[in-house]
Amino acid sequence: MFSLHQIHFVILVTVSVYFGFVLGSFICQVAYRLPILIIKKNCGGIAPEWMTASERLVSGIDSPGCLCPNCGEPILKRDLIPVLSWLMLRGKSRCCKTKISSRYLITEFSSGVLCGITTYATGATWLSVLWCFFLLMMLCIALIDCHYYLMPTVLIIPLGGAGIFAGSFNLLTTSLATNLFAGVVVYVSLRLLNLLMSKQSPALGDGDTNLFTVVAIWLGAHKVMIVLLFASLALLLFQVCSSKFSSYKNSSLRMAYRESLPFGIFIFFGVLVSLVFGESIFNALLN
Ligand SMILES: [Zn+2]
Repeated sequence: MFSLHQIHFVILVTVSVYFGFVLGSFICQVAYRLPILIIKKNCGGIAPEWMTASERLVSGIDSPGCLCPNCGEPILKRDLIPVLSWLMLRGKSRCCKTKISSRYLITEFSSGVLCGITTYATGATWLSVLWCFFLLMMLCIALIDCHYYLMPTVLIIPLGGAGIFAGSFNLLTTSLATNLFAGVVVYVSLRLLNLLMSKQSPALGDGDTNLFTVVAIWLGAHKVMIVLLFASLALLLFQVCSSKFSSYKNSSLRMAYRESLPFGIFIFFGVLVSLVFGESIFNALLN
């Protein structure tokens, strides 16, 4: 039989998964609306012609309420249940029967899984809240980069600040001083690399450099090296596979596609590998 402690733990992880689903829904909203707001601001408050009806209506992260991504009709409250609504509607909007991207379902589901695993690993502590925040912010930045080739500083700077705040209370796995030093080294090294490579081919974008710096502040020197290694390996593997199996027959189109590949999602993958296997990989590399 299960002990009371085990039952409490199962309930706790289930609640975390549920909150993860809800937060995943909010992340979808931020990842969809923040770039629209940035683009509108850069265009002097006017929506560019290419924006859809729904995008034109967006005036804030939560204003107006949830809209159909296609026609801009308000979404009914009963259709806003994370994960379930998408499945019940079979990925189509109720108003105009248009396909709703599976990224909404994948993001909500992934957020739930991330929160559940984090709570399972850290227990019912502030650490759980802290690392859920870090992972969900990373996921949000990766999603925005994936769709808009943009890494908003309005998300990266608070994430870095939160890392420093957590480090000042000794909530990170390594000391804040060494993490800050790692952050400076990573930032200067990647800037220099960019400077050296800028004449040959485009290296990392400013957003990628800033995000790696923030990851160094959160994870420390050892783990950020694992992130760099696995993010680069994953990107390389993706490029090899996409050039081998891609349906892009036109070579110039393929080159354009490859040159503009967003790195954020690969950094996020590197972070996950580093958090789960970081210590064992680092020890294996040393021996
Ligand atoms: Zn619609």
